Amino acid sequence: MKCSASGSRCAGTCLRCLQQKYDSSLPTASVIICFHDEAWSTLLRTVHSIMDTAPKASLKDIILVDDLSQQGPLKSALSEYISKLDGVKLIRSNKRLGVIRGRMLGAARATGDVLIFMDSHCECQKGWLEPLLARLSSNRNSVVSPIIDVIDWKTFQYYHSVGLHRGVFDWKLDFHWEPVPEHEEKVRQSPISPIRSPVVAGAVVAMDRHYFQNTGAYDSDMTMWGAENLELSIRTWLCGGSVEIIPCSRVGHVYRHHVPAAFAYEEAIVRNKIRIAETWLGPFKENFYKHDTVAFLISKAEKPDCSERLQLQKRLGCRNFQWFVSNVYPELSQPGDTPRFSGKLYNTGVGFCADYRPGKATAESSIKLSPCSDSLTQHFEYNSMKEIRLGSAPLFCFDVRHGKVIPQNCTKETDNSHQHWDVQENGMIVHVLSSKCMEAAKSEDEMDLFLSVCNKNANQVWQFEHSHGLHQR
Ligand code: UDP
Ligand code: MN
Repeated sequence: MKCSASGSRCAGTCLRCLQQKYDSSLPTASVIICFHDEAWSTLLRTVHSIMDTAPKASLKDIILVDDLSQQGPLKSALSEYISKLDGVKLIRSNKRLGVIRGRMLGAARATGDVLIFMDSHCECQKGWLEPLLARLSSNRNSVVSPIIDVIDWKTFQYYHSVGLHRGVFDWKLDFHWEPVPEHEEKVRQSPISPIRSPVVAGAVVAMDRHYFQNTGAYDSDMTMWGAENLELSIRTWLCGGSVEIIPCSRVGHVYRHHVPAAFAYEEAIVRNKIRIAETWLGPFKENFYKHDTVAFLISKAEKPDCSERLQLQKRLGCRNFQWFVSNVYPELSQPGDTPRFSGKLYNTGVGFCADYRPGKATAESSIKLSPCSDSLTQHFEYNSMKEIRLGSAPLFCFDVRHGKVIPQNCTKETDNSHQHWDVQENGMIVHVLSSKCMEAAKSEDEMDLFLSVCNKNANQVWQFEHSHGLHQR
């Protein structure tokens, strides 16, 4: 029995998963797949992989919701194809609903005990369904997700993810994966026990049908796509449930290789996030607005109406977000992004300030030294993650290539990062990986920032404009 696409033998956790025996009276599942202009092959690969892997007795139906697709093959050819498949239904929406309301439309037609929402470009692995159903049958207040493996969008190669991850988010309400931290590892009884996860990804998620409907389904005022997984997860935790990843269940998902260029998408995500902030974050919403200026401006201009969701919160007797931070995701409260130092970065030796020069592409951008001014390009922030972020382009961090300091996308890497700096009390800024010091030096006609062996010369002495008193060593 092979357990991974790369051909390694099934051992350890994999073997334990295969040895699990499941009750013959598992709940039944309705799988709901909402799609908009999905490729024929990936859509049917999703459907067939479910039919090929799910035990017949456990699969009530597969409900496809066509969210106003335009592509030819998805019209009559798809209807015809689906009509020949046992237990597969196709619902057509005559309005563009977006995935959130599309999934709710499918859920309204579902009759299985459990709802499983799935993206239209997935591949289910053998044995994926039973562990989800088993967990939900003993724990009805849970929202569960499989391990979501990566299918390469270009080659369709299947990559089994190694190591266990959980879903988290940052103050911009963007979703990320991270390795399961030690304190969560400790509470798990075995390698196949569920992993408590602050949030689950949107691609595949399962819960009891009545639980879903009774606890507010999805927020029907969210449009298009995006952040609904955060809303579902945060609400579940706050209103008495739990959110988990089930390690014996695996489904592959084709991650998108680019964010849709359509501006409408971007705007929809921001508005959906604002709804989360206004409904669930309480006073913590200010943190979100601080990290997402566009959201702040939109929320001021539009004053979103979340009264229905706030009533739901009352009706369900939900806890506040402080509880979530204390009990589910304490790492969020750590001032990861609050600066320890900020403002202009002044070089004592040359008497100039660091200055960001944006280029057309990242590779053409640079950091130079210029006469100090109040330009936003001279605003930097040094945070507790040891990054020096650019105030005018907050996703960029000081990085190093060939001994020169340059702006690059912040990586969030914890080890071996080129982007970690020690801002020392003596004014030296040490690049952690190389132990060299940041130094102002002339190159051609301009002043650049380079790394040099630390020698305390004045060109290696820097002053941040503001210190925020959190700098402890
Ligand atoms: N989708 C939809 N209507 C929309 C946007 C997306 O039905 O307006 C579907 C899409 O076909 C997919 C699911 O919603 O099955 C999730 O979208 P996507 O895979 O693009 O999101 P991602 O996985 O990248 O977060
Ligand atoms: Mn997807």
